[in-house]
Amino acid sequence: MPARRRSKPPEPVNGLLVWTSSAHWSDTARPCRYCGRPTNLRDSKRAPAHKVCAEHALVCQQEDAVAVYRTQAEL
Ligand SMILES: [Zn+2]
Repeated sequence: MPARRRSKPPEPVNGLLVWTSSAHWSDTARPCRYCGRPTNLRDSKRAPAHKVCAEHALVCQQEDAVAVYRTQAEL
């Protein structure tokens, strides 16, 4: 059986990943990079990640960036 080709993940126009894309699916379950529970989903870098875990990480990264800018603005 030939290997299925994975399409390139679509660009997130609103900052959120398009999880319905086949690019986020793998036939092999692996531990989520964030919580360690098994998942067939892959993030934008093809690392195993649940949708909610990856989106939570994105929100945390955004909040951290805002906090850094606020800290720098106060200096
Ligand atoms: Zn997870």
